[in-house]
Amino acid sequence: MVRAARSDYGARVITEVRAGPYTLRGVSVGGVYTTLHVPELDVVLDAGLTLRSFATAGRYFLSHGHLDHVAGLAGLLNIRGLVGAKRARIHLPAEIEGAVRDLLRAHGSLARAELDAELLPMLPGEEIPIGGSMFVRALRTHHPVPSLGYQFIRRVARLRPEHHGKAPGEIARLRREGGPGVFDEHESLELAYVTDTLSRVLETTPSLLESRVLVLECTFVDATRSVEDARRKAHLHLDELVALAPGFQNEAIVLMHFGQGASPDRVREAVKSRLPEGLRERVVVFAPEGDRWFG
Ligand SMILES: [Zn+2]
Ligand SMILES: [Zn+2]
Repeated sequence: MVRAARSDYGARVITEVRAGPYTLRGVSVGGVYTTLHVPELDVVLDAGLTLRSFATAGRYFLSHGHLDHVAGLAGLLNIRGLVGAKRARIHLPAEIEGAVRDLLRAHGSLARAELDAELLPMLPGEEIPIGGSMFVRALRTHHPVPSLGYQFIRRVARLRPEHHGKAPGEIARLRREGGPGVFDEHESLELAYVTDTLSRVLETTPSLLESRVLVLECTFVDATRSVEDARRKAHLHLDELVALAPGFQNEAIVLMHFGQGASPDRVREAVKSRLPEGLRERVVVFAPEGDRWFG
């Protein structure tokens, strides 16, 4: 008798979660692949796997050159070529620009077709506009290879309270005259993406704790690996978040990049049992339903 094949391929490919006003779609397993699409910002964070629907995003942000974060890049550019999407804009740590260019050139020569992309190297602290009122600031993460995190910031000009109620014509006149203080600039830390790093990043960039949504790696979650093990590998352990719990001001913290040593169900159980009340409710586990990782 032929038995019906049981699917051993595990979960659905794409996991989707909501965090504050943002949607995060994609896959993330530490050391295997991480790629996340945030449709509200029209950005893809890392490119560890080629996913069809990620190929037309407005911008790509690479955290570092480890394969679980870049292996899908050439495939994405290939699909862009197929569908006639405009030249991809790829933000990346300045130190890996040459290597990524070489990688794309090698793929291009294999395919006898150019993989065209605009590479936009960034340094820690550098900030660039990405359209509308949105800006991105790069930050230093702590990993054995050149690496960056990214903060997405909304900057809006607000009329100062002393001008409230004035006619638009008068506001325009004050503005024209260039007098000081018609508007205040207000900065809102909307979303931060921080992966493959020591927890020390929360000390070196403390504003991460104030980002409305913080997407943070958490490669190790239980006692099968100690905090020291995690630090030796330049990754983060869930137990470190317990110690730091009072500092998190975020509306939502999306944990991802879990190692495949723990199943999604075990990750959820660890988050539930180890994180203190007050933090636990704000944490979103980025993992598929059930007890298997995709693939
Ligand atoms: Zn990784
Ligand atoms: Zn890495």
